[in-house]
Amino acid sequence: MDPAKVKGFLSPVEGQMLSQYAVQGVLLGEAVEIGSWCGRSTIYIANEIAKTGRLFFAIDHHRGSEENQPNWEWFDKEVWDEQAKAIDTLPHFRNNIRLAKLEATVVAMVGNSAAIGKAWGSPVGFLFLDGGHTMSAALADYRAWVGHITQGGILAIHDVFPDPADGGRPPFEVCEMAIASGLFARIDQVDSLMVLQRL
Ligand code: MG
Repeated sequence: MDPAKVKGFLSPVEGQMLSQYAVQGVLLGEAVEIGSWCGRSTIYIANEIAKTGRLFFAIDHHRGSEENQPNWEWFDKEVWDEQAKAIDTLPHFRNNIRLAKLEATVVAMVGNSAAIGKAWGSPVGFLFLDGGHTMSAALADYRAWVGHITQGGILAIHDVFPDPADGGRPPFEVCEMAIASGLFARIDQVDSLMVLQRL
């Protein structure tokens, strides 16, 4: 299953970089992503995690972010559940993980990522942040999860656009906040993916 064929918004070079840092981070703690959509990033990352025998926790409420809703820029009617009158990417996600033969590695956690972060209890060695892109959603995820990232652990953030003309600002603001806190250093980037390391 080629992850580039799965619906999603991650470029192949971003996927490759994520998987490389996930394998590094999982040596230090659990590997977690926030914002799975139909599983493109999940498959890039879990393909490599599977070789280590570890799990990959994929968190999403599967109802889509603001920009995915009807009449918004990134609405896709193929993920619309007419009965629920809501987006539902979970069946697509589950099918893609099955096709990719990653069901033993990927643990889907369906719910609010910030709420899950507050209840989470294990050290995290790799966190991929790609959830809601409003300031309140991006901040809530950051605040709920940042304390779980262990020393040397990786925080990767998607859709970081230093120039506002290229896209929304909250992921960029969260990235700047993480660096300004003195807890993280920027170690790599490609396209709109920024990779930080916990000092
Ligand atoms: Mg994204």
